[in-house]
Amino acid sequence: MHIRCSPHIASELRDRYHGVVASHGYFPGEVELALNGAAQSALHERAAAATREQFGNKVFVRAVVEVSNFCRENCAYCGMRRDNRDLARFRAKHEQIAELLIHHRPASVTDVNIQTGEDPVAARELVLPLIESLRRETPLGISVCLGTLTPELYDELQSAGASIFIMKFECGDAAQYEQLEAPGTLAERLRHIRLLSEGGWNVSSGFIVGLPGQTPRDVLKNLDLARSLPLHGCSVSPFIPGEDTPLAGNPTANPDWTFNCVSALRLMRPDWIIPAVSAFNLAAQDGYRRGLRAGANLVTINMTPTDVRGDYVIYKRDRFIMTEERVLEAISAEGLAPSKIGLADFYRSRSANAAEKTPATAVQT
Ligand code: SF4
Repeated sequence: MHIRCSPHIASELRDRYHGVVASHGYFPGEVELALNGAAQSALHERAAAATREQFGNKVFVRAVVEVSNFCRENCAYCGMRRDNRDLARFRAKHEQIAELLIHHRPASVTDVNIQTGEDPVAARELVLPLIESLRRETPLGISVCLGTLTPELYDELQSAGASIFIMKFECGDAAQYEQLEAPGTLAERLRHIRLLSEGGWNVSSGFIVGLPGQTPRDVLKNLDLARSLPLHGCSVSPFIPGEDTPLAGNPTANPDWTFNCVSALRLMRPDWIIPAVSAFNLAAQDGYRRGLRAGANLVTINMTPTDVRGDYVIYKRDRFIMTEERVLEAISAEGLAPSKIGLADFYRSRSANAAEKTPATAVQT
């Protein structure tokens, strides 16, 4: 299965699916969720064609820095939950991260995502000044993934120069959400997503596929919830049983569900930014590339300093770290190329186009 298809096939695919895609009318059924083999390849090719129609062969390249693994939450699927007393907790130093991003980031990186556990102290004392430094010293677009914070702190982060907020709802069923001890309640989480969007943030969300006990219907519920939210992007994270978590003994997510969800998101919302997540590689052989083939259009280079990276254990210590080399190899192998336009700039120009009532166009770099 390849996303590089002949111009003839590409145009046929476009003709065939443009109406469905453009109308936002697509929604998968349980059969599509479980597809494999040739039928799955066809689904992924449809999604890849929709991605190309919107974004050409360009993918956004972002760096991530994980700057604190303190967390006041207790999510059952995460190794950084507060009950995990065996974990050495860290907060990175502003100077170290600023130096890294200002002077040593790969040339392909246009944006950075600053990520922590839910640690309001780090958000205020470390992330805010870091955003200010990056805004002053670099042209980087700035995303944050910091958990549920106060509206005042959201405003301060935005005023400092961040424009993209990643807030995953993780599980679209309120009862399961509570059982998983995910942050607050699902209703609160969704309220914060809407609040951020109303405040002018470009919001990206995400959910986990393959949680213990999750049925195909539950997975579709996630997609249904995602499409109802005011989002600019959404991720699909395969469930990986985390060491030192209550879910440690459970099986890893079904890779077919995972990648079929990526394609479903793409066909549902052709203009969304959908990341290839490093956990794809833990769910399936060559998973990262499979994610790109299924419709993802954002890749992330991990720039967390190596001395603390091992303690940022969302799943397990043996993480699959996406280095610059691995990321660039993967996109090149799929016939894709890094976008020279950054993600934050892309969103800005798309909003400006929308304000002028001009349809968003493909990324031209
Ligand atoms: S998923 Fe996030 S909020 Fe939940 S325990 Fe892990 S770091 Fe904390």
